[in-house]
Amino acid sequence: MAPSPYEGPRSAAVKVIVVSGGVISGLGKGITTSSLGRLLKARGIPVTILKIDPYLNVDAGTMNPYQHGEVFVLDDGTEADLDLGNYERFLGQSLVGTHNLTTGKIYRAVIEKERRGDYLGNTVQIIPHVTGEIKRSIREVAQAAGAEVVLVEVGGTVGDIESMPFLEALRELSYELGEGHTAFVHTTLVPTVGPVGEAKTKPTQHSVRELRAIGIRPNLIIARGPAPLTPEIKAKISLFCDVPPEGVISVPDQPVIYEVPLVLEAQGVGSFLCRQLDLPDRPPEYAAWKEFLATYRRCEGSVEVAVVGKYVELRDAYLSHSEAFHHCQGHLGVEIRLQWYDAEDLPKNPSLVARLERSDAVLVPGGFGARGVEGKVRAIEIARTRGIPYLGVCYGFQMAAVEYARNVLGLAAANSTEVDPSTPDPVVCLLEEQKAQSDLGGTMRLGAQRVVLSDASRVAQVYGQTEVWERHRHRYEINPAYLDRLRTEGFVDSGRSVDGRVEVLEARDHPFFLGVQFHPEFLSRPEAPHPLYRALVQAAIARKEVASPVAPAPTFA
Ligand code: GLN
Repeated sequence: MAPSPYEGPRSAAVKVIVVSGGVISGLGKGITTSSLGRLLKARGIPVTILKIDPYLNVDAGTMNPYQHGEVFVLDDGTEADLDLGNYERFLGQSLVGTHNLTTGKIYRAVIEKERRGDYLGNTVQIIPHVTGEIKRSIREVAQAAGAEVVLVEVGGTVGDIESMPFLEALRELSYELGEGHTAFVHTTLVPTVGPVGEAKTKPTQHSVRELRAIGIRPNLIIARGPAPLTPEIKAKISLFCDVPPEGVISVPDQPVIYEVPLVLEAQGVGSFLCRQLDLPDRPPEYAAWKEFLATYRRCEGSVEVAVVGKYVELRDAYLSHSEAFHHCQGHLGVEIRLQWYDAEDLPKNPSLVARLERSDAVLVPGGFGARGVEGKVRAIEIARTRGIPYLGVCYGFQMAAVEYARNVLGLAAANSTEVDPSTPDPVVCLLEEQKAQSDLGGTMRLGAQRVVLSDASRVAQVYGQTEVWERHRHRYEINPAYLDRLRTEGFVDSGRSVDGRVEVLEARDHPFFLGVQFHPEFLSRPEAPHPLYRALVQAAIARKEVASPVAPAPTFA
């Protein structure tokens, strides 16, 4: 007899921490979840993290960065929510696509099963079939990752219709796993109002009530807000929300997100979770993490890095780039000031151009479409001709080829066919396998690919090796027909994919000018900044030191 769809397996192997959000979105739930994972990892407990995005898209790949910020690419080529990037950076672990669950993926799986006849003639319903699929996916992720604890971040805000089946599934899972196997963590906002900045607990009370109405009682409340909570406010939240006083945690805004695990640790959250989940509470290990933060805080001097893109009003669109620079700051001990330039405005605004010319380094990140391209080309020309350290990522690499073709080889109308399909000089063109592709979802050249670097190239010197794996996300490539012309004494291709595509371009007669077809930003970690970012910042520091050597002592006439 087939098992009843209402009965989940009783195996109690996995432990689950559910992180939900209340009041408003954008409270840093992803950072909270990542930090909680770090607390357990610091105690030697194998953990992993899974993100639930309750939207109907199957993955984030088709979404405009203005909607949810950057699309984060995983090794296996999954185009995921940007929180997966936070998880990887905080845990120092690489994740795969099953760690990003969406309503689209769940419904697709359920509908495929229904079409195959797997439900044996039953009426297929949200409960138990959709919830069953959610529970199965969570257990599978934990098992495949070999994790003792899986943290599940539920996107959106409690009360949203979309997230209901997920919260219901998590409630059921908690019941099935039994005592000591689940912890519910609720992240809320405690706003302050009035001239004395009085902290208000009412929104928290309401959102906890919402959660309890669906059968979930939080064990821990993470209160976000501008300032630390007073003991009185903590006690009030504890009383009204039925959470022990040591379970009300204050996480005020931090100068850098990597402080959050230590803010939680200082309030006993690591030990609290170990008690709740019946885990051994070993002394946590944070040596490298603390060292990173100490260097980050005691910066001496600063460099200004210009970032030229088209989504600059929304910083989340370039999150992994900003984080990569934070990682460099925590290792090089120099403040890195990112200056954002709207690529569309740049060519029209001489004062922006003048400011860019004074930058210590320039980064042109990835992008799509024609808007803003001329500004990127202009920025690259400035960096190349003035000896400003330059790193071009993906589109920033393709546009470096376009800039070189136009301004050095004299091919004035050179372009990518993505921008100008009828350009006489298609220096960048569609990948062969893309020509027959009509679907937009998950069809680019995606994920980790091997890149072979030329001996004695700058890029090989930066990595300290001649073979690397880097993550990709592109449809276009350097046109091989132009390679002979692009390759000159001073400009070389110095990295190739195994199947011969150009992956790296570098200018030889320049202090630092590198373009890469891949996305190094996705692999940078606080404990290990990416070598390309590190080298760019080091080149910026070197340039600044030459431009302004230590100021001479003032003289008095
Ligand atoms: N639009 C370019 C391509 O599809 C670059 C992509 C990117 O920067 N991620 O190849």
